[in-house]
Amino acid sequence: MNGIVSIDGILVPAGEARVSVFDRGFLFGDSVYEVVRTYDLALFEMGLHLARLASSAGRIGLRLPWMADRFDREVRRVVEAARDIATPDPAAAPWNLGECTVRIVVTRGSGEPGLDPGLAVEPTVVLIAVPLRGPPLDAYRKGISAWPFGGPGAPPRGGDPAAKTGEHLFQVLAVREARDHGAQEALVLDGAGNVTEGASSNVFAVRDGALETPPLGAGILAGVTRAVVLEIAGRLGVTARERPLPLAGLESADEAFITSTVREVLPVVRVGQRSIGPAVPGPVTRRIHAAFREAAGGGHNPGKPPASV
Ligand code: PMP
Repeated sequence: MNGIVSIDGILVPAGEARVSVFDRGFLFGDSVYEVVRTYDLALFEMGLHLARLASSAGRIGLRLPWMADRFDREVRRVVEAARDIATPDPAAAPWNLGECTVRIVVTRGSGEPGLDPGLAVEPTVVLIAVPLRGPPLDAYRKGISAWPFGGPGAPPRGGDPAAKTGEHLFQVLAVREARDHGAQEALVLDGAGNVTEGASSNVFAVRDGALETPPLGAGILAGVTRAVVLEIAGRLGVTARERPLPLAGLESADEAFITSTVREVLPVVRVGQRSIGPAVPGPVTRRIHAAFREAAGGGHNPGKPPASV
């Protein structure tokens, strides 16, 4: 693995990074995390990510050992140490070349094994900087397939969807099933058959030129990219409605896309066995992504091709 890791503020090459087998993050998924990314090696929306990290920690009663300014400083340090580790990827979208992601993980720490959180002594902070592996450019040009997972009768998604914790088995199984069907993302269905979010993304449909996306109350993570997209839609005069999204409603939409820090705005052209519209990325999706690209930057430095899809 190519990367630089900071463990409680000490930098080590990724291959040498170790935490204790008694760490509760390893034993129980007793941790919170964020994934941030760079554009031109500057962190994107770090304030929103750190606010969500604090919110996730609060929701599970985990005390963050560092203030926001220390997280900010240490993340910049690991980005600086990782700046030259990327190996060129000919399939990558040009705006991702030379960029990195940093996974910020805070576990409740290690201690005698047992569920009681009081057994943990001191939180562990791990920062993992690796070259950004985004979808290939082709995925933006042609769109991806998504596969529905869960729904009526299936075991429900565990945990608190509004907290970004290390507990991810439901999403792991969802992605496994999606991959088995040749799809690139899994869509989480609630007990009523509504699409709530992707395994690691938020979901939007486009109908009659307007955006539809499940509300935060639907049991989803408040995605940073989702918030940026809603803000962009407002600026462009594109109507956005936050309301429940039945699977049939997504299947009958004109267009669909998912959003996440690493994928930005990625067109979805198939859900399960069905095509969305003409099964090519639609004009509203492309317009929103182009505006996102403008807002996010990247690709503005001399060595890079233009930022558009
Ligand atoms: N939902 C879930 C469950 C996720 O894991 C992610 C990825 N962090 C998202 C949505 C998208 O959030 P963001 O735009 O902040 O990356």
